[in-house]
Amino acid sequence: MAGLVVIFDFDKTIIDCDSDNWVVEELGINHLFTQLLHSLPWNSIMDRMMTELHNRGKTIEDVEKCLKKVPLHPSIASAIESAHAFGCDLRVVSDANVFFIETILKHHGLLDCFSEINTNPSLVDEQGRLRILPYHDFNSSPHGCNICPSNMCKGLVMEKIRALVSADGKKQLVYVGDGAPDFCAGLKLEEGDVMMPRKDFPICDLISANPLLTKAKIHEWSDWEELGANLLSTVNNALIDESSNTRTDQLVPLDCKYQNTLISATAHEALQKALPVSPPH
Ligand SMILES: [Mg+2]
Ligand SMILES: [Zn+2]
Repeated sequence: MAGLVVIFDFDKTIIDCDSDNWVVEELGINHLFTQLLHSLPWNSIMDRMMTELHNRGKTIEDVEKCLKKVPLHPSIASAIESAHAFGCDLRVVSDANVFFIETILKHHGLLDCFSEINTNPSLVDEQGRLRILPYHDFNSSPHGCNICPSNMCKGLVMEKIRALVSADGKKQLVYVGDGAPDFCAGLKLEEGDVMMPRKDFPICDLISANPLLTKAKIHEWSDWEELGANLLSTVNNALIDESSNTRTDQLVPLDCKYQNTLISATAHEALQKALPVSPPH
């Protein structure tokens, strides 16, 4: 399905924890991390933390091993797989970094479901140390947004994504997130788009405090079953809209757990390929 673009925040949205906190806690440098919180931007602290780990003899493999232990709920994994199988364009917009996000998504077999990961760049330097860099260069070109941290304005990233995906026609955007920068991203949504904020997280307070600012439809979620159901019903609605131009005999009933829906034959085939089938006896 060409018309639906789903954009996910990563920390506390795809995974329940914050991957930065997870790494500093698991690898025992949480105390130093907390000490620096008032003097340096978060993104710069994470870069410092990687140097600290390197100095303590921790390798990039140790960081990788630690990231592979981050829990990821099976309901969000299957919702991502199904949305991808339906042909949705899935993207990540996150203030974590490329190495953390790719390691976790790859470990859960989800990396290939995403067409783009917008986050802080990371690299391994000559000494084998992970470096974490800012997404925007805040010295040469400050973004001026007072909701987002200096290294990344998610609203600006959304403008870039909208321009990119709209090149071949109008798209419906869905945004899933929990934090204040996700609210900034949500301000770029238009009528017909959908915002999926995590219930009882900062984004919901901002939405309630500024109800007129958000033009998109809002579907709150409090766990990954609910988020998965929200996502798949949005996908279904988009499919039904698209197939309203299609002959009805091209529609087939979907005989899996997402019953009582009609989807096009090609999408049905894609879904069947994505769903695990029981082995022959
Ligand atoms: Mg988040
Ligand atoms: Zn912003």
